[in-house]
Amino acid sequence: MSGESLGSVRRAFAPWTDPDAKPFVCFKGVTKRFGPVMAVDAVSLDIFEREFFSLLGPSGCGKTTLLRMLAGFETANTGYIFLDGVNISEVPPHRRPVNMMFQSYALFPHMTVEQNIAFGLRQESGVSKAAMADRTAEMLKLVQLEGYGKRRPNQLSGGQQQRVALARSLAKRPKVLLLDEPLGALDKKLREETQFELMDLQMDLGLTFIIVTHDQEEAMTVSDRIAVMNEGRLVQVATPGEIYEQPKTRYVADFLGSINLFDGTLASRNGAAAVVETGAAGPLHVLIDEGTELAGSATIGVRPEKISIGFDRPNGAGRLNTVKGEIWDIAYYGDLSTYHVKLSSGTIVKVTVTNTTRLVERPIGWDDEVWLAWPPEAGILIAE
Ligand code: ATP
Repeated sequence: MSGESLGSVRRAFAPWTDPDAKPFVCFKGVTKRFGPVMAVDAVSLDIFEREFFSLLGPSGCGKTTLLRMLAGFETANTGYIFLDGVNISEVPPHRRPVNMMFQSYALFPHMTVEQNIAFGLRQESGVSKAAMADRTAEMLKLVQLEGYGKRRPNQLSGGQQQRVALARSLAKRPKVLLLDEPLGALDKKLREETQFELMDLQMDLGLTFIIVTHDQEEAMTVSDRIAVMNEGRLVQVATPGEIYEQPKTRYVADFLGSINLFDGTLASRNGAAAVVETGAAGPLHVLIDEGTELAGSATIGVRPEKISIGFDRPNGAGRLNTVKGEIWDIAYYGDLSTYHVKLSSGTIVKVTVTNTTRLVERPIGWDDEVWLAWPPEAGILIAE
């Protein structure tokens, strides 16, 4: 498949919006306790066939435990897990049509690449030697490691080892591939490249991938949908765009990307247009869903890249949310610059701008007085 057709398939793919679509993997009220620790707390979640799904959250939030229950390595205390309509809660791990790939790769150092890939197949009854060799060759080709079959893992780079591990976990042709921090051991550049390879592979094979990661950028890049977890619970399940643009809670808003949060109270409301009086930045205008009930306290979130920065106060319509501040810190990243701007209230606001022109001397410098502005539709009303 060409990149173009992969992209168009992915664009059209949204079974979770179809009320008649049947989930492929289904967790129903799944709970897992380890002694006093509630690792997974009453999780109900539907994942669809061919979906690239991410479980995202900080260390200890229960992502791996949820994945391990699907693989059959842990047993739920309560609840059920269905795969393709079948309750697999009691099915032993080796009989489940899922396979798990771990961060450590767990390649056998004394075996060649071919032997590592064929390892899972050897335990399957009824696979002939010839079929095993064919499948191994097919898998090597799939991960672009033809010619590397006779090497041992210590003769491969980290990225190549990761691909062998992927080939090994795909060799048994699972219906669902579970990936626990699969790219964790790779450096940033290789990691980014591999993310795209992984997405293409998943599309080509038409498999369901469920990945565990604590890297929000990775989850945003590869996923059709993301489940953000906290303390064993699902906080929000949505597409990367929805999670970023409409985070349901302060926790999600803060976990994915960077956000400026302004706490305040509702001052006025006219349909979708609301004004929230904030201690940090005065009255802020925000557009909200007409159906959203709002009374008393409210928090407005504004992403740093939605804020413009300049020496002059914007005029006209751009004057609704304008605040003056002083440059407190500047971070230059080449493609982007981030400014920390201190308001008269003492609040620091983070602003990110794209460096579209090549600048030798920066026009905005430390201690400069600047105006910040953003339109009402850039603000996000954060519920809790
Ligand atoms: P990480 O990103 O660090 O891998 P995680 O989100 O995957 O974290 P889990 O590994 O699922 O989190 O762990 C969830 C909670 O359950 C943690 O508090 C962890 O200490 C606990 N836990 C996990 N496995 C066990 C176990 N076998 N025995 C006792 N406690 C466990």
